Amino acid sequence: MTTKVDTATLQAEAAKLRPARHKTREVRVGDKIVGGNNPICVQSMTTPDTHEVEATVAQILRLEEAGCELVRVTVPKPEDAHVLSEIKKRIHIPLIVDIHFDYKMALMALDHPIDKVRINPGNIGGYERYRQVIRKARDRGLPMRIGVNAGSLERELVEKHGYPCPAAMVESALRYIEIAESEGYHDLIVSLKSSDVIMASEAYQLYARYADYPTHIGITEAGKAPYAVTKSACGLAPVLLQGIGDTIRISLLGDPVPEIQAAFDILQATQRRVRKPELIACPTCGRLEIDLEGIIAEMEKRLGGRTTPVKVSILGCVVNGPGEAREADLGIAAGKGKGVIFKRGEIIRHVLEHEMVDALLEEIDKWEAEERANGTMRSETSGFAKTGRLKLPVLS
Ligand code: SF4
Repeated sequence: MTTKVDTATLQAEAAKLRPARHKTREVRVGDKIVGGNNPICVQSMTTPDTHEVEATVAQILRLEEAGCELVRVTVPKPEDAHVLSEIKKRIHIPLIVDIHFDYKMALMALDHPIDKVRINPGNIGGYERYRQVIRKARDRGLPMRIGVNAGSLERELVEKHGYPCPAAMVESALRYIEIAESEGYHDLIVSLKSSDVIMASEAYQLYARYADYPTHIGITEAGKAPYAVTKSACGLAPVLLQGIGDTIRISLLGDPVPEIQAAFDILQATQRRVRKPELIACPTCGRLEIDLEGIIAEMEKRLGGRTTPVKVSILGCVVNGPGEAREADLGIAAGKGKGVIFKRGEIIRHVLEHEMVDALLEEIDKWEAEERANGTMRSETSGFAKTGRLKLPVLS
């Protein structure tokens, strides 16, 4: 069964499927601005005991090298608070402290040169203690994340809603925002995490209807990679594609360094932050007429570190090759041992298989120079060009 629909309605409905970014206020975290139209910041959290300064700093430096932009350390004991100045001196990205249970640890950490505090409202010990932390953060001019977690919601909210659910999580966040606002404090970032992807995804989407504080998005306790990366992508893609999310953490069991690549890949795939060329390749099949795996591997190697937001399609035969190549910024539609290069939808040259990688790299250089000269180079946050330049007829 189908519902009758005309072309104009289809086009109008399709346009509604790509919402604008959730409008959030800007919150400064050290030298980074989270929210507004700023790129979604990638963050992570260290795993050694924080007071083990050498191990903590070494891990943060490895995270920095991988591209981490904000880092969080846990502060459960006074000895962890006492080393914050030392850690801060030796790293180059904003330092966030993570507080659970003991509000006094938040107050103590705020005496040190940190850049942000994260508290869990469900376990901080009540509104009055929360207010004390808010006042001190406000007086120091530092931001705070209200980190709501489905697993540690206030008991009263769980009883009211019957069980941890998106509505209870959002009610918790809104309640703590309101208290902060009553203290004249607005430097807030909010997270609504759950290990259940549906609950987390719905909580972020529900929250975005009622508040404009930036969101820190993530699927908590996602487990071990690679499943944890897939699970995080499943939970965060609906959020990101709704335009929600201002900073992101992918939680992986063990060494946090791989979290950074995973976060950037999820942002790239959802086109919320594009920092490298996008290579489109077919899975290959019995129709394949070139060594596509070899060509892609070589392209990946030679494009390593390049940040150009160019979409490059390389397909193995004429079935989908011309169509994909026309839709990409640059593309190759391969035939037997040879191919045709498209640029912005037009055929620009014919190449033999062994010339493909060099030719594509040459064309990427030219494309980049032209985009810069024309002032049309896309920014990290503008995604790739919209589809729609496919022209018929297809290649014969
Ligand atoms: S593009 Fe061609 S070779 Fe690649 S999967 Fe499709 S049919 Fe197979």
